[in-house]
Amino acid sequence: MSAIDNTSPYMNYFNGYPEPIRAQVNTLISSGKLIQYFKKKYPSGHQYNSEKALYEYTNTLKQQFLKNAAKLNSVKYEKRKELVLNALGTHTFKRHAHGKKLKAQHHIAVANQLKYAPLEVLKALVVHELAHFKEKDHNKSFYNLCCHMQANYFECELDLRLFMVLCEKGENFYSP
Ligand SMILES: [Zn+2]
Repeated sequence: MSAIDNTSPYMNYFNGYPEPIRAQVNTLISSGKLIQYFKKKYPSGHQYNSEKALYEYTNTLKQQFLKNAAKLNSVKYEKRKELVLNALGTHTFKRHAHGKKLKAQHHIAVANQLKYAPLEVLKALVVHELAHFKEKDHNKSFYNLCCHMQANYFECELDLRLFMVLCEKGENFYSP
């Protein structure tokens, strides 16, 4: 088993994972086989490249699984550094005063890199942010909800992190 290169900035994406997974990830990245991994597992990318399509895709999932949740106001691809470093996406919940009534607004931001990505990878992020409608924290019921929306959520979340590494290496072949 090869040692994990903890000096690799890429490994920051996998901080929460157990050592055996980190070792596998480290081997995959350092062997230069990440691009083959994606080509084999996900030969083509999703079609939700416009913000209109992204909103419709997200809202359809929301209607399917979180019918009684509040209205989703917007979903946007955004180029923001913290999206990549921390959460890969954000779910902002604001209360705006409209006259005397407080109106809730839900906005989801998706890291710009996911505009051209495998569908399962985009879905993992969308599912994650939608789950924040119900659960603010990353607790057990949060992840149960994620797995309810995407049965192999944990696998796809790991692939989402691997995909961010692919992008940083300049190897995103889903991009035109
Ligand atoms: Zn989260």
